[in-house]
Amino acid sequence: MNMVSIIEKKKQGETLSQEEIKYVIQEYTQDCLPDYQISAWLMAIWFQGMNRQETHWLTDAMRFSGDVVDLAAIHGIKVDKHSTGGVGDKTSLIVGPLVAAAGIPVAKMSGRGLGFTGGTIDKLEAIPGVQTSLPEEEFIALVNRIGLSIIGQTAHITPADKKLYALRDVTATIDNTSLIASSIMSKKLASGSDAIVLDVKCGNGAFMEKLEDAVKLAEMLVELGKDAGKNTVALITDMNQPLGNAVGNGNEVWEAIQTLKGEGPGDLTELALTLAGMMIFVGEKAKTPEEGTLLAKKMLKNGEALKKFREFVEGQGGSGQVVEDSSLLPQPAYFIQVKGPFIKGYVTGLSARQIGIASQMAGAGRVTKEEEIDLAAGIRLLKKVGDSHQPGELLAEVFGNHPDKVKQGALEAEKAFAIGTKAPKKTPIILEIIT
Ligand code: URA
Repeated sequence: MNMVSIIEKKKQGETLSQEEIKYVIQEYTQDCLPDYQISAWLMAIWFQGMNRQETHWLTDAMRFSGDVVDLAAIHGIKVDKHSTGGVGDKTSLIVGPLVAAAGIPVAKMSGRGLGFTGGTIDKLEAIPGVQTSLPEEEFIALVNRIGLSIIGQTAHITPADKKLYALRDVTATIDNTSLIASSIMSKKLASGSDAIVLDVKCGNGAFMEKLEDAVKLAEMLVELGKDAGKNTVALITDMNQPLGNAVGNGNEVWEAIQTLKGEGPGDLTELALTLAGMMIFVGEKAKTPEEGTLLAKKMLKNGEALKKFREFVEGQGGSGQVVEDSSLLPQPAYFIQVKGPFIKGYVTGLSARQIGIASQMAGAGRVTKEEEIDLAAGIRLLKKVGDSHQPGELLAEVFGNHPDKVKQGALEAEKAFAIGTKAPKKTPIILEIIT
């Protein structure tokens, strides 16, 4: 097979065969094709697109480019949850215990944050002692014993996606629906769960800014999951402002714990309960998603989900005391308050993207994959869209352990807020459900 003719074929808008797609993925994974040819191929895909069949073949080729996890040793229907990435999104830390407490095994592999979006693994590592890298047998044993384990994805799962994603990141080819869908679903399908609930973020803090693009992506993700025989559902949710009030790592863990105690912010609680309800439904422990949400609410109210969170933390080597004692989480040394303008009115906008950048600048996020992050750094939002504002009132607090970074973060955070005199319309957190 000849790579130049494969690039040419896609450049002309023709459909690639399964053999051609397999060839590109296999050869590139084994370092037998150079980055410059793959870059040209990706750009041709970006301009010409891929049809449903090609996207399916690409997903399959990436799914089987490395190890595929076998979760057959875990009893019951294993349900996975995946967010396409957002700011302040700590739902996995809430949804996992809620669903596990309802009797559904959750064997989840998560990622780290990159750029302005956060990642579950970084957040978990803010809890002293928690191990996020466990051998597969231990991971499976934990799920069978506790009902929940969350670990980082190993290098052996979908190595093709790791290489392609890094290349897409530096060749302006991230934002293509087929490339995003195959990247996400190859990882999900290789991780071995029986059913998948996807949280497709939509808004300025997400890959998909427009609802129609988010719907297109969600439909493609659901189709790829169903083609592979997995019950797959997607929720499209708002990411025009951050989720909850905490953005960072250690502080997000504390907000997740507060939510499990029934004291979390409204948007975060609603989303977590809806996602958990959908997972309980696809895990066949409820007849409808609504019934699933009722069961999740029960697990929240009776304290079973919080108990499950504690067991999960202890099972992965961490201190369960963290549930009562926030001082066990990384503590920042520097704080800066962000004040609003001398206008009486309302918060009319709060850019999720800009808050994500501010948090990253404060030290909570990394610019390159290798960078060390400050797990104590982050932002506490004191106002969200629709809240009233008095002249000079506080909007946010930015913190971390490096004074220059905190200062930079505060400057960026200030730019995230828009204040106006007219009360804005509130956007619902759940925009659409694709089944
Ligand atoms: N998340 C992924 O895993 N891959 C993409 O391409 C985009 C978001």
